[in-house]
Amino acid sequence: MKKDIKSMTAEELEKELSLMGEKPFRAGQIFSWLHEKLAADFSEMTNLSKALRERLSENFFITALEPVEVLSSRLDSTKKYLFRLADGNVIESVWMEYHHGNSVCISSQAGCRMGCRFCASTLYGLARNLTASEMLEQVYRMQALQGKRVSNVVIMGSGEPLDNYDNFVRFLRLITDEKGFNLSARAITVSTCGLPDQIRRLAGEGIPITLALSLHAPDDEKRRELMPIANRYSLKEVLPACDEYFERTGRRLSFEYSLVRGVNDNEEEAKALAALLGKRSCHVNLIPVNPIKERNYARSGREEILNFKNILEKSGINVTIRREMGRDINGACGQLRRSYRQNDCREKEDRT
Ligand code: SAH
Repeated sequence: MKKDIKSMTAEELEKELSLMGEKPFRAGQIFSWLHEKLAADFSEMTNLSKALRERLSENFFITALEPVEVLSSRLDSTKKYLFRLADGNVIESVWMEYHHGNSVCISSQAGCRMGCRFCASTLYGLARNLTASEMLEQVYRMQALQGKRVSNVVIMGSGEPLDNYDNFVRFLRLITDEKGFNLSARAITVSTCGLPDQIRRLAGEGIPITLALSLHAPDDEKRRELMPIANRYSLKEVLPACDEYFERTGRRLSFEYSLVRGVNDNEEEAKALAALLGKRSCHVNLIPVNPIKERNYARSGREEILNFKNILEKSGINVTIRREMGRDINGACGQLRRSYRQNDCREKEDRT
C-alpha cells in the first residue's frame, strides 16, 4: 500500500529515502516541494530525477484536495470550500480576510461524535478522523487557490481536534516546521469542547498555540443540557486543565460562549460566568448561535447580547462578539457539509 508522504515529518522522510538508497538531502528537497511550494504531484518536483519521481509515485501518494463546491459571500470576502476526500467523504473549510491578514478555519474530523446540541457537524456522528495531510491540505489548497498567504489558522471547523489527538499534533508539528510552511504557533488557535487529559498533554508538546474552550454555560447543569461531554468532565476538571495550559505555554486562554435565546443568555448567567472566570487572563468570545433547522434554538436578541457583554466587561473581562463572516453562505460549522449530504441522499432516493 502506498504511504501518505505529506503526513511524514522531515525526519521520517529522511528514513524512508535512506531505505530507498537515496541521499538525505533529497528528503529536504521533497519536504520543501510538499510544504513550502505546495506541490500536488511528484511530476512538479523538477530538481529530482525522473527515475526518482517515478519510484516515489510507486511508493507514496500525495494528499491533494479538490473543491467540489465553493461558496462566495456577497457580504464580505469569505469563501466556504467543500472538499472531497479520497474515500468520498466531504469536509468543509472557510477562508476569511481580515485587516490583520487572511485566516482559514479547518476541520479536524469528518463529522463529530461530541453531540453538542446546537451544532450541525455532529448530527450524523463521526465518519472518521482526518489525517495530518488532510488537515494541512485544507490550508495549503485554500492558499494556492486564493493566491494569498494564510496568516492564521483556526481549528474550529467540523470535528473535535483533541479527539483526533495524534493526527492533530502531527499536523501542528508539520505546519510550524521552519523548513516547510513555517507558520508560527502563535498564529494558530484550536477550539475544543474540553477534554482535560488531552489539554494537559497538548500543554507539554512545546507548540504554544492558543487554546479556546467551548464553555457555553457558566455551570455544569446548564452545560450538560447543551454539551453531552459535560456529563463526562465537570468544569472542576476542565478549567484547571486550561489553567495548566496557560501556565505552561503563557498563551492567554479563550472561552467561547454561544448565546442561545432563553437558554444561556440571561443576566444571572452572565454574572455567574464572570464569577466562574474570575481573575483569569482570558478572552471571551460571544457567538450568537447560528440556528440549525433540526433544533429549535434561536439566537439571542441584540439587546441581550450587548447586556451580556456589558456585565462581563464590568467584571474586567476582555470580551468580543464574534464578527459574523459569510452569514449568507451557511456560516456555522458543518452546515454546508450537512446540506451537501442531504442533497446527495435526495439524489440517491430519486434514482431508486
Ligand atoms: N469541537 C470543537 C470545535 C467546534 S466548532 C469545539 O467544540 O470547540 C467551534 C465553535 O463553534 C465551538 O465553540 C462550537 O461549540 C461552536 N458552534 C458550533 N455550532 C454552532 C452554531 N450553530 N452556532 C454557534 N456556535 C456554534
